[in-house]
Amino acid sequence: MADRFFPNVMPDFVPEKAMGDDEVVGESLTKALFMPYQLLSEQLKCAALDLKEAIVMETWELTGQRVNDFTLYTGLLGTAFLLFRAYQIMKNPKDLTLCSQIVKGCDFASHNSRNVTFICGKAGVYALGAVVSKELADAESLNYYLNQFRMIRLSSNLPDELLYGRVGYLWACLFLNKHLGDDTIPASSMREVINEIMKNGRSLARRGRSPLMFEWYGEKYWGAAHGLAGIMRVLMEMELKPDEAEDVKGTLRYMIENRFHSGNYPAAEEDRGRDILVHWCHGAPGMALTLTKAAKVFGNEEFQQAAAEAAEVVWKRGLLRRVGICHGISGNAYVFLSLYQATGKAEYLYKAKAFTCFLLDKGHELIAKGEMHGGDCPYSLFEGIAGMAYLFVDMLEPSGARFPAYEL
Ligand SMILES: [Zn+2]
Repeated sequence: MADRFFPNVMPDFVPEKAMGDDEVVGESLTKALFMPYQLLSEQLKCAALDLKEAIVMETWELTGQRVNDFTLYTGLLGTAFLLFRAYQIMKNPKDLTLCSQIVKGCDFASHNSRNVTFICGKAGVYALGAVVSKELADAESLNYYLNQFRMIRLSSNLPDELLYGRVGYLWACLFLNKHLGDDTIPASSMREVINEIMKNGRSLARRGRSPLMFEWYGEKYWGAAHGLAGIMRVLMEMELKPDEAEDVKGTLRYMIENRFHSGNYPAAEEDRGRDILVHWCHGAPGMALTLTKAAKVFGNEEFQQAAAEAAEVVWKRGLLRRVGICHGISGNAYVFLSLYQATGKAEYLYKAKAFTCFLLDKGHELIAKGEMHGGDCPYSLFEGIAGMAYLFVDMLEPSGARFPAYEL
């Protein structure tokens, strides 16, 4: 099991040195951990800019600006999303223009796709396209993307999960409303989708102990990508009726009560014997983000405590031998950022910084030596080094960091 992750030998907390303090002795990772924040962020910015350039070159320029995979998960929309985030933080208008060009390419490539979500479908292309067009004050493109978005129809046999299902579509609606105003996608049209999700969840849960349960390809997943953690996370962003909110709380309590002794969470309902995965997609990291949200929405101490316990699992076993957002160190670092924002505790900011410094110091070398998997799509946002670049950019303003395409 230990071969899935690097043993975390970093101290649980070290204070930053002030600027001008004597230099810390020790190996480069130790030095990075003690480094004054201002110096560290200069290094992160340089690394992020280099990575961004390499990612644009590999995914866009060298392919002749042709889009084979348009998705945010492994394709060009991930590059565009990274450019948009870089623009938000560093304000280089070239990033925004390039982002808009890439989204156009994604739009063209996605016409025949039947997928309707933000992360793996057309809703992501249209939603990001609309938001970027507004930023560029391009009213014609803004209208085009919004019209395309409004023409999306959800089929009755759609799953409910995040990557391909209903909550993945709802997340795109939330993203639009956040950036373009509350009524861009009216609550009434999201309500129809919520009704469908609640109906499905209650119907499958009927004989079980959880108030809600869902299936994806016959498997009752618990994780953020395909299962309960992701569905509950998006539902908590919605205006829920009191009985719906109770069912969401009850489902989270069911998961907490039935987690592994280690504090980790099973990947699926039938997977209770395999305490292996500590990923955003399956396991404690995705659940920690959901529980942090639950503590905020329901004002509940028990959810805050469970979130802290899930984060402890991520600290011990989350230094994965993978780089990306979905099942890698980059994604796992967001658990600490989210808890830092929720609690204000310096311990969590330090832990996010520790995972980030590990990548900054050792990422390239470990990937080159084959000791860390660089992703099947090595320049992608969710599997590859674009995830690391996204984290580095977010670490420049940790209080505004959001797990990409998951936290709003
Ligand atoms: Zn994954």
